[in-house]
Amino acid sequence: MSNASLNKVYLRNLVGEYLSRDGRNWTFTLDQTKAHVFDYEADNVAEQLELAKRDSGVIWVAVQIDQNAEAETCDACGRKTRFTDILFDDTRYLCPNCRKSKAAPATKADS
Ligand SMILES: [Zn+2]
Repeated sequence: MSNASLNKVYLRNLVGEYLSRDGRNWTFTLDQTKAHVFDYEADNVAEQLELAKRDSGVIWVAVQIDQNAEAETCDACGRKTRFTDILFDDTRYLCPNCRKSKAAPATKADS
């Protein structure tokens, strides 16, 4: 089995915008932190690129994500977390652990 993390990619158009998901709609953004992360194999990226080119005449490029370079800092605990694991929660970036503890009903009193 291959290393799955090597297969995480962004899709970028020729003006350098990243394909991003906004609810149910797809859009393009220059903000890489909002770019949708695709799994090259599971999402059939090669096929999608081919279809986009054939059906819409658009050329998208798969950009492999460099896990180390893309490491983000969790705003809650300060831990470096792989870019693909961190989630933007409207106001801040949270690692999987902090997302879990945030989801748990810890302190209801301080609102
Ligand atoms: Zn954290």
